Amino acid sequence: MNLKNITQPFIKYFPGDFSGNPMQRQTPKVVFAAAEIAHFEKPELLFFNEKLSEEIGLGKIENSEDLAFLNASAVPDTLTTYATAYAGHQFGNWAGQLGDGRAIFAGQIQNAAGKKTELQWKGAGATPYSRHADGRAVLRSSVREYLMSEAMHYLGIPTTRSLSLSLSGEQVMRDMMYDGNPEYEKGAVMMRTAESFLRFGHYELLSAQNEFETLKKLTDFTIENYFPEITSTGAAKYAEFFQAVADRTANLMAEWYRVGFVHGVMNTDNMSVLGLTIDYGPFSFLDEYSLNFTPNTTDLPGRRYAFGKQAKIAQWNLWQLANALFPLIKDEKTLENILNSFTDNFWQKHDRMMASKFGFDSVLRKDGEFFTLAQQMLEELKIDYTLFFTKLESWTGNHDADSHFSDIFYETPSEENKAGFKTFLQTYRERLEKNSVSAEASAALMRKTNPKFILRNYLLFEAIAELNEGNKDLFEKLLTALQNPYDEIYPEFSKKRPAIYNGQSGCSTLSCSS
Ligand code: AMP
Ligand code: MG
Repeated sequence: MNLKNITQPFIKYFPGDFSGNPMQRQTPKVVFAAAEIAHFEKPELLFFNEKLSEEIGLGKIENSEDLAFLNASAVPDTLTTYATAYAGHQFGNWAGQLGDGRAIFAGQIQNAAGKKTELQWKGAGATPYSRHADGRAVLRSSVREYLMSEAMHYLGIPTTRSLSLSLSGEQVMRDMMYDGNPEYEKGAVMMRTAESFLRFGHYELLSAQNEFETLKKLTDFTIENYFPEITSTGAAKYAEFFQAVADRTANLMAEWYRVGFVHGVMNTDNMSVLGLTIDYGPFSFLDEYSLNFTPNTTDLPGRRYAFGKQAKIAQWNLWQLANALFPLIKDEKTLENILNSFTDNFWQKHDRMMASKFGFDSVLRKDGEFFTLAQQMLEELKIDYTLFFTKLESWTGNHDADSHFSDIFYETPSEENKAGFKTFLQTYRERLEKNSVSAEASAALMRKTNPKFILRNYLLFEAIAELNEGNKDLFEKLLTALQNPYDEIYPEFSKKRPAIYNGQSGCSTLSCSS
């Protein structure tokens, strides 16, 4: 690997704490602190994403130095590894300084085309931002993030990526369900990549500390590197930046709704300014369609981060970012307008996306009534979100609906529900007759919008159990399936969640423990 090509522009450019003091503490006035990796003694590389490594310009594993790098057991002397400081609103409340508690940056790599990618370890040890925690990650949560971020990438959804996954060789104590029953689990470390890991919380921290010079510097750096299309100057430049973040966020939300993804912890520290899906924790795809579904047990009391609330929460989070950027923009009206336009912007993207799922043209796209009807039916009849659309795609209307759609219900439908479902299909057919798009084009649109494979939590649960026993088969099979989500590679994965997993912790309900 081209480890010598890793650069560290971030720490050259911004004020940082180079003391190397690992003590957990507040670090006012700086954007990062030097943080050493754990130097694991007996790590074991499990998976390496060679394709991604080649793409970003890092290349193949060639020697023990490369392996040690991925495993967080050694880094080239030229690198000062570091953790960044950010703040955030967690579950609606200001949480003050948070920071990379178990993410440590190696730096940035550039490929031949000039594309820059940041590299970081997750689970490679404590940092000044670990806040009484150990900076470690367990195999369970690392497998979930490794596979899910790749699944999102191949679905075509903006996301961080997974470069490698290793056993750290340590045992890590976790109270998985927060019920007073801690147990040892296998420790793991992954390397992940992104164009940038900058979060809303980075700007919030500097603003809250009145570090306006550094806030301006960070925003300028962000615009210059990641939003080169912004060419205005002065306050207009920062307003355009905020608008661009709002647009990317609206796009991300529409994309999550397309595939039925629930993030689970949409705190502002888990919101990427690049509009990437970031920090995979207690996430889930929907099995049965439900706007009120939250996979996160910590979120159950208020269901703040439930599936149907995600766009609203994204807007709330943008509002916090607007407050943080206010000192640079100093124009409430402009910020308010951008925030208000988020709603329309999102719904436009949403309706366009929904129309594609049904194979509709641009006139039918405006048929909000139909989409609401569809959503109500999916919810009331406890229908599998993904299977519904794949079955709809292959339904010609000629064969018997009862048998064609029989395997998509989580509860046996009553006669009344069956009749309601058929009425809905009839309404759908009537809409299709008005569709100006040809039948072939409509089917093609549906095929590329509706995934046939989603990485359901129960599949992850099974893969983790097998991997804990040293068996990689299911993990690898899932990796193949998720790389081709619009095809049906393994028919056994295109089934609804088996009943034995209903209510199973780690499948239907997850904690933040990781
Ligand atoms: P999350 O809910 O995973 O986004 O984490 C919120 C904050 O807690 C972030 O600052 C994390 O870095 C930190 N954190 C979570 N788990 C750990 C851990 N095991 N060790 C250190 N910091 C952690
Ligand atoms: Mg986080």
